[in-house]
Amino acid sequence: MIVRPRVIDQKTIRTENRKKILQLLIRKRELTIPEISREIDISTPTITKNINQLMAEGMAEEAGVSESTGGRKPMVIKFLPDAYYSVGVEFALEYVRIILTNLDTSIKADRILRNANYQDIVSLMTYIHQEVDSIFLEKEIPVERVLGVGISIPGTVNEETAFVKIAPNIGIRNADFRPYEDLFQLPLFLENDANAAAIAEVILGIAKEMRNLVFLCVLPQGVGAGIVVDGHLYKGQNKRAGEISHTTIASHGKLCSCGRRDCWELYASGNTLITRYKEKTGRTLASLEEFFALVKRYELAAVKVFDEYLDYLALGIQNLILIQDPHYVILGGVISPYEDIFFEPLKEKVFVENNFYDMQDVKLMCSTLKENATILGASLLPFEKIFALHDM
Ligand SMILES: [Zn+2]
Repeated sequence: MIVRPRVIDQKTIRTENRKKILQLLIRKRELTIPEISREIDISTPTITKNINQLMAEGMAEEAGVSESTGGRKPMVIKFLPDAYYSVGVEFALEYVRIILTNLDTSIKADRILRNANYQDIVSLMTYIHQEVDSIFLEKEIPVERVLGVGISIPGTVNEETAFVKIAPNIGIRNADFRPYEDLFQLPLFLENDANAAAIAEVILGIAKEMRNLVFLCVLPQGVGAGIVVDGHLYKGQNKRAGEISHTTIASHGKLCSCGRRDCWELYASGNTLITRYKEKTGRTLASLEEFFALVKRYELAAVKVFDEYLDYLALGIQNLILIQDPHYVILGGVISPYEDIFFEPLKEKVFVENNFYDMQDVKLMCSTLKENATILGASLLPFEKIFALHDM
């Protein structure tokens, strides 16, 4: 990837200043103009102009005078997180989840639809729209205060055209989401699920402000990676970067749904644990929760399946580390709730003696946003696209 130096013109400086001021306000909540000036080294008139703009947009207000200084007491500027809202929607294999967040990304409403029918996108989007509308009504939020709807999709997404090329696990192919903007009367922003999680992790999570990281998302039927290079999401020429589910990891001849053999997802997706356990014991487990309960009790077959699974998960992570040389590898997805069981043994397998990297070079961690990483990333999309605070 070529990172070109940004050409700074007057307009960009103004927006850059605005970004800095807004970021500071979001972080510190209440500041005076002299304090802002000291913190980010921008002249008082420029700050005043930007603050007036932010107040006009409803994102800040004057909140009394500061007591701290002598002479003329400066006005305290207060950030208003409820000035704008955003809707996050997560398309997952087993559900569609819808949340409403404010500028703080705190979740104000949370709804879930089980058994979503992705084959009938029109009905599904109509249903989601009705849910979103009922959330606005319940929370008494006028639609003018909503910046947009961000949707995370487990597949290859062109975020510029809101077009889903293929999301194999939920069976969506060549779907154009742009027409639904008319239905919602709001801008729609789409993103691949692992990319959305990576965005959330960089902006809100454990890797705050990290420049180079891979977010590895273990899904029920796949594995996805969101790649951040030099502070920017790396998406690749065809928006397929990080589609690692179908990279070859073994040579057992196991047939994958994609037509190839021995893809990583056959060995490292969440459901692998359940299918392998069934192959070994003949017993069908209802959930990963049940599987991990067996591991916790040291049930022999479960422990064996688990150990094998971790070998393949570690192999893929090692490949990612060697390809990407990231600072952080963050694990999330369906295995998130079982961190206490899988993390230490996985770490041992990833950092097995080698000539290239160790625990000092690469940090392997679990997402602190856990099962919310992807949907928070989705709800951040409208904020980020409109305010461009992080230039992801
Ligand atoms: Zn495959």
